[in-house]
Amino acid sequence: MKFNQNFNDVSDNYLFAEVAERVAKYTAENPDKTVLKLGIGDVTLPLAPEVIKDLHAGVHDMFVKSTFKGYGPYEGYAFLRDKIRGYYSSFGVELDNSEIFVSDGAKSDLGNILDIFSADNTVLVPDPVYPVYVDTNLMAGRKVIYADANEENGFLPMPDPEVEADIIYICSPNNPTGAAYDREQLKAWVDYALEKDAVILYDAAYECFISEDNLVRSIFQVAGAKKCAIEFCSFSKMAGFTGTRCGYTVISHELERDGVSANKLWLRRQSTKFNGVPYIVQKGAAAVFSEEGQRQIKANLEYYKNNARLIAQCMDELGIWYTGGKNSPYIWLKCPNGMGSWEFFDYLLHNAQVVGTPGAGFGKNGEGYFRLTAFGSTEVTKEAVERIKSLLK
Ligand code: PLP
Repeated sequence: MKFNQNFNDVSDNYLFAEVAERVAKYTAENPDKTVLKLGIGDVTLPLAPEVIKDLHAGVHDMFVKSTFKGYGPYEGYAFLRDKIRGYYSSFGVELDNSEIFVSDGAKSDLGNILDIFSADNTVLVPDPVYPVYVDTNLMAGRKVIYADANEENGFLPMPDPEVEADIIYICSPNNPTGAAYDREQLKAWVDYALEKDAVILYDAAYECFISEDNLVRSIFQVAGAKKCAIEFCSFSKMAGFTGTRCGYTVISHELERDGVSANKLWLRRQSTKFNGVPYIVQKGAAAVFSEEGQRQIKANLEYYKNNARLIAQCMDELGIWYTGGKNSPYIWLKCPNGMGSWEFFDYLLHNAQVVGTPGAGFGKNGEGYFRLTAFGSTEVTKEAVERIKSLLK
């Protein structure tokens, strides 16, 4: 027996462990100090009441013989796919239910989708980036190349016609940089993918944070995208489902190569390796799209967006360069005075007792940058912002 040797190419996942270790050490040595955490990428507000109501209804259905559910459809129940289809229709994207696949979250699908692609495809990934894209491809032995995101391009790299790629990852609004592509920029990526016969794996996990009108919620709002893109989305950040687990992937019937349909391959893959999302969870997810559900989740999103605004205003006042904060819960800032990411992490922890995430953990271009997040409470965010202002002004 031999283990998969490709795992040797995957670096140890040390970023958050290292952050936790440094914070634990500081706290042990300074028990009188209150440490404020703006590093967290997880939601903190509880599920909306409408969601809870329908989760309860789902539990009751499972208790009654006539409504009890066993194995469900691999692709998700029609009642939820109908709602997702309606949601897309609200911003002008018409889908068929058979193009929507419900899953237990975007992370699983982003990794699992690779089953339908050949191992010899070259993968183009922006740097810095959500580490899952790189690691899942390295585990499968694929060649990964990088598109440099930096201050010059506003952390939104554009396609280079000289670069040959088969699979392209785009995350917009982006984790960790909070930067979001506008429609014209996405059109350039779609045109590039069509030209190269490549596929775009579009991660829309943060689309719910989009506030500006010139931005699109879905890559399918861009002409030609149905022929070259797969979209991944999630209830995690939209409705606080990080612990409840539900997401969806959209693959148009128009995405074909050599007469083979990506949609059919994915259905085949899911029906072989996946037995669907729990009925109860899908009931809760469907409640997100009711009128009252939308009102409630939007209030929660507004809470996080307000935190993001407070952090962004702080950076504006201090004259610190940053991306994000407007259409994203993330603020990606340039470490002041030329500090490195970890140097700034320690400086902030020791002098303001504020914790963020060093940008260097997201790729080589993250060095010298730092991520703050809006998922904490407003009280903590306000206090952290005041401490940062006093320290850096
Ligand atoms: N995609 C991005 C860019 C993320 O930042 C995250 C989670 O933080 C995910 C996907 C994972 O989403 P899910 O909870 O649906 O697996």
